[in-house]
Order: sequence, then structure tokens, then C-alpha cells
Amino acid sequence: MLLGRPNAGKSTLLNALLKSKLSIVSPKPQTTRHRILGILDGDGFQACLVDTPGLIENPKDPLQNCLRRQAMGAAHEDPDVMVLVVEPTAPTEALLREFSALNRTGKPVLLVLNKADLPGDHDRVLQAYADAVKPAAAFKVSALKKEGVAGLLKKIVELLPASPPFYEPGQYTDRYERFFAAEIVREAVCDLYCEEIPHATAVVIERFREVPDAPDQIHAVLYVERETQKGIVIGKGGKALRKLQDQAHQGIVDFLGRPADLELWVKVRKNWRKDPRSLKEFGYLP
Ligand code: GDP
Ligand code: MG
Repeated sequence: MLLGRPNAGKSTLLNALLKSKLSIVSPKPQTTRHRILGILDGDGFQACLVDTPGLIENPKDPLQNCLRRQAMGAAHEDPDVMVLVVEPTAPTEALLREFSALNRTGKPVLLVLNKADLPGDHDRVLQAYADAVKPAAAFKVSALKKEGVAGLLKKIVELLPASPPFYEPGQYTDRYERFFAAEIVREAVCDLYCEEIPHATAVVIERFREVPDAPDQIHAVLYVERETQKGIVIGKGGKALRKLQDQAHQGIVDFLGRPADLELWVKVRKNWRKDPRSLKEFGYLP
């Protein structure tokens, strides 16, 4: 299970461990809204990797509250190994206190200093975290450059208890392709628009139909909170929306490895982030 502050590089690391793109990655914090389960079948082992939304310090709205609950709840779900991902910048006392609670679960913690490709006093930062967390082992990696990842994976596998495989070998993930289609659209939104839009956006796949000998038909609705946001998403003469559509379409085809048609609609759902019914409908609440 991967834990850490938003933007530490958890999703990037998950993808590096899985050697393919599964979780969505974005320079804007809080991109990962759902926990994503990736399954890695190796030589004589199976590892189920769970990405969590980052631990948000002061949740500001009901959506952030859900995310924080999901992330914290994950630590109580009895993972075999916890992988704590941190950045190469000096931690605050408060953060060290929060992370030191992790070893009370009695499960091994692997400390991962990510972004080791960036400049900084990596050894000192790693030591500060290690003093608080008392990890079973510590690693310096660059998830982005896929450096140091093999050593980490080896250690994870060592720490896994012997048990029969949980999932059918070869099963890639327990989430449906439609879920990834939605995440890919949201990733494109994070990429193409400024801060306000990504935070106010939810994507729902209303239809995902596999058609024999023809492209999949995917029908996505992008919900924003206000008319003005809808205007921004669509842009002058629909230009921005076309760009979004192109990028999302390409991402989905790459992910599926087969042709697909993507239809994209923009709708307004007033203040959905504060509305329990919408949060439920969009999959953020059980
Ligand atoms: P998460 O919020 O912890 O899941 O973080 P993400 O995986 O979404 O990554 C956040 C940002 O950090 C993205 O812009 C990544 O490209 C960047 N990033 C992740 N890993 C590395 C790394 O090893 N080196 C550098 N320089 N950037 C990284
Ligand atoms: Mg993430």
C-alpha cells in the first residue's frame, strides 16, 4: 500500500512498479481521488498494490473529507506492507508526528524518498523521516526515471507473507476499464485547464460498449459546478473542448490498446462537491 502526502509521487511510483500506466499522474495535488488497485504477477509472487489519495492535512470540503477518510481508512485495512513515499524536502515536525503513528500498526513500513533526481540533501531528509518512522528499510528512488524501483520491489516481495494468490493470475486490475476511461478524461482536464476546473470536475462514463469488429463506444459526461466553468471547459467556438476530447481519446485508445470512439459532454451540477447525493452518484461515497 502506497501512502504519503499529495504530490509525493505515489501514483507515478505505482505505475513504475507496474511498468505501465495505470494510476493517473498530474503535477496538481489531489489528482488521485480513488484508491487504485494494481496487481503485479511475478515469478512466484503476486503483489496487490494500492494507491491512495494523499493525506490531506486540513480537509476543506466534503470531497476532501471523503478523500482523507479513504486514505486514512486504507492504513487500517491490514496491508502486508506500507510504502511511505516522501519528497526530498525537509519535513515539518507535525508531519513527522503523523507519520510516526504508522509503525503502531505493527506492519513493516518501507520508507521511500522519491524524486531523488531533484537536487537536495537527500541523506539528511531521509534520516529525519527514518528517525520518526523507524522503517524496515529505506530507499532513494526516482519514480519518474524508474531508478531504484527494482530494489524496492524486491524488498516488497520479500516482506509479503506466503498465501495463495488473491486474484486470478493475469488479472490486471479489479477496476473496470470504464473507471480508467473516466480517470484518463480527468487527467486530460488536469493537464489542459488551470486549478479551478480540475477541482470542480467529476467525470462519469455513462456508456461503455464493446462492439464486435468496431471501435468501443464510450460516452463520457464531464460535470462542473458552475455555468462559467462550463464555458471555460468548452472555450471559444468549442476549441478547448475539442482539444480535451482529442487528448482524452488518445489516452483511452493507448490504455485500451484498441480503437474507441469517445463522445464527451459537459454538464453543470451545482456545487456537487458539497452534495452527498452527487458524491455518491460520482463514486466518491459508498
Ligand atoms: P501523488 O499525488 O503522490 O500520486 O503524486 P503523482 O504521482 O501524481 O506525482 C506528482 C508530481 O510529481 C507529478 O508532476 C510527477 O511527474 C512528479 N514526480 C513523480 N515522481 C517523480 C520523480 O521521481 N522525480 C521528479 N522530478 N518528479 C516526480
Ligand atoms: Mg496520486
